[in-house]
Amino acid sequence: MPPRAPLIGLYAALAALAVTAAAAAPLQPDAAKNCRSCNEWNQPQKPFQLYGKSWYVGTHGLSAVLIDSGDGLVLLDGALPESAPLIAANIAQLGFRLEQIRYIGVSHAHYDHVGGVAALARASGATVIASARNAQALAAGQPPADDPQAGFGVEANAFAKVDNVKVVADGETVRVGHLALTAHYTPGHTPGATSWSWPDCDGEECRDLVYADSLNAVSDDMYRFGGADGDGGIAANFRSSIARVAALPCDLLIPVHPGFADFDDKLARRAKGAKPDPFLDAGACKRYAAAALRKLDERLNEERAAPKP
Ligand SMILES: [Zn+2]
Repeated sequence: MPPRAPLIGLYAALAALAVTAAAAAPLQPDAAKNCRSCNEWNQPQKPFQLYGKSWYVGTHGLSAVLIDSGDGLVLLDGALPESAPLIAANIAQLGFRLEQIRYIGVSHAHYDHVGGVAALARASGATVIASARNAQALAAGQPPADDPQAGFGVEANAFAKVDNVKVVADGETVRVGHLALTAHYTPGHTPGATSWSWPDCDGEECRDLVYADSLNAVSDDMYRFGGADGDGGIAANFRSSIARVAALPCDLLIPVHPGFADFDDKLARRAKGAKPDPFLDAGACKRYAAAALRKLDERLNEERAAPKP
């Protein structure tokens, strides 16, 4: 008769293995979006260090950031559904495993930034964290009716639904390992738009990193940022979101589209050995915000010149 104790130990080990397997599964991407810009956005991008324990793992046109907290990983955004395998490959190339991801934070609920989140959450077992309005959109697989781009239509806007989203309040700091990641609600481009900030250190040298959401006043043909009567609307909220990003402690800006902060140029200069590191740019958040404010003002002028039909 075999001794009992080792057998119980074996069952316990098998049970633990089953739990691990349930939390993480092979990546099963959701259906590709194949939008007009999708192919261009989804060109591969070799992952690279942003600063300290923060890495760029997105595609060439859509950002995703991986932060090693020392006690698990945090991923910000999942780009398109067809980007999820590229992001997973970038994470693997850096020597990490998907099941090490504990949280996935999101910027805004448009398919080009959250389209890959559902698959990455399923494959990693990570908890998705989002603003209250983003959480509603993620559960619906659709931006809300008051989204400036809602008029593009349900089918065009759809993305894979994400269940069990944990809501993070405005100004709340999520703590994991050494990481203190703060959510800043920056509505305007969408009602749930969120920017994220965290300090990261390279040895003794600590810097403030900002994952800034889109501040672009773009919409369908019917939407009016200035409100139906050209007055009110969300313009005032949008302005305060822009001011908020401008005021964040910011040594390194990572916008949701890397081109908004000239990442190609910065990478090229970094490859040539430029010192200081071109990615460390204390004026970048302020310039990003100033450009967004000019665009919003232009847009509001256009709305005044061409009232809603
Ligand atoms: Zn968007």
